[in-house]
Amino acid sequence: MWKLLVKIFRTGLLTEKKSRTVDPTSPSGFERSLAIRHVDAGSCNGCELELAALENPYYALSSEGVKFVAPPRHADLLLVTGPVTKSMEEPLKKTFEAMPNPRRVLAVGDCACDGGVFRNSYAVHNGVAPVILVDHQLPGCPPTPEEIRLAIQQIFRKPRPERK
Ligand code: SF4
Repeated sequence: MWKLLVKIFRTGLLTEKKSRTVDPTSPSGFERSLAIRHVDAGSCNGCELELAALENPYYALSSEGVKFVAPPRHADLLLVTGPVTKSMEEPLKKTFEAMPNPRRVLAVGDCACDGGVFRNSYAVHNGVAPVILVDHQLPGCPPTPEEIRLAIQQIFRKPRPERK
């Protein structure tokens, strides 16, 4: 027992310190709870891995009141990854149309911004913008969880879009 305690004492903390980027315009993080509907429109899953990290105990986005939801009718934000394959055009449009106003769209990753590595393929639309209105684009292949978190914060600080 003592051996174990001595070892614990000598080893100390091995986990890295939390070094979250603080946005000076919003020191308290999110001002209200948010629901996000994510659509994978042909991603390689690299962006999804970074999105999944937002749910882990380090980034803990859900502890700030931000959660991913399945029904688009409950969502404030449509987050899209992937270059939008031709087969995902219709599901993406339908998801967008099912969301209540004011609905916002965030394109995450180079592919969602302009097609990325799939650009000009016969099977894709070169990003989200040719298919639905995009409020904010976050480039990166893939963007980091912290960049995604800050992009979500920024998008809700812009004036609400007037859309039908
Ligand atoms: S931006 Fe990069 S990581 Fe994200 S879907 Fe495209 S290729 Fe994959």
